[in-house]
Amino acid sequence: MIIKDWCSYCGACAGVCPKNCIEVKETNLVFDEDECSEKCDICIKTCPLHALEKQ
Ligand code: SF4
Ligand code: SF4
Repeated sequence: MIIKDWCSYCGACAGVCPKNCIEVKETNLVFDEDECSEKCDICIKTCPLHALEKQ
């Protein structure tokens, strides 16, 4: 997944990730690619700004 320019860093995606593999760091999102093994796409569907998409 990538962050597009319109991410507001609200943290909603990090809050819903069942694997806890998204961390919001000020103006960056850090993904733990190893933990995100299921590719459930919950984060993509949750983002109110559509800032995430599959890589
Ligand atoms: S839910 Fe969307 S806008 Fe909010 S931090 Fe995640 S990617 Fe950014
Ligand atoms: S696809 Fe699922 S497991 Fe991977 S970062 Fe998004 S919510 Fe987490």
